[in-house]
Amino acid sequence: MINARCSCGGLALSLPGPSGLVVACHCIDCQRRTGAPFGVGAFYPAEAVTISGTPKEFVRAAASGGTVRNYFCPDCGSTIYWKAENLPAMIGVAVGAIAVANDPAPVRSVFEQSKHAWVEIPDAEHFQRSSAPKNSN
Ligand SMILES: [Zn+2]
Ligand SMILES: [Zn+2]
Repeated sequence: MINARCSCGGLALSLPGPSGLVVACHCIDCQRRTGAPFGVGAFYPAEAVTISGTPKEFVRAAASGGTVRNYFCPDCGSTIYWKAENLPAMIGVAVGAIAVANDPAPVRSVFEQSKHAWVEIPDAEHFQRSSAPKNSN
């Protein structure tokens, strides 16, 4: 098991191990969510994740359609996970909240249309927009 947690530790997730689906996302919403030039999420089946603490929820429209629900700590403000309407069985976990130095690298790099020119994600599949096979836009 590995853990993800917010800055203060009030909100935490228990995860079964390293994720096989790590995605770097350069969309503007992920930039705003993280305050970083891009977001990186490790995706897990929702039933494999145990949540402790009581998050606040922020719902936004996803650039790839549907909504994304972001869950953040009401005390320190870190978003540590999210659920996308397009991927209802999965939870995205903020890789920065896992804080394991040798966590797997991204296998996909999405929304490169808004990627900062100096950012390079090596050894990943690259997408200008969403990697979703249907309803991609
Ligand atoms: Zn916190
Ligand atoms: Zn994004």
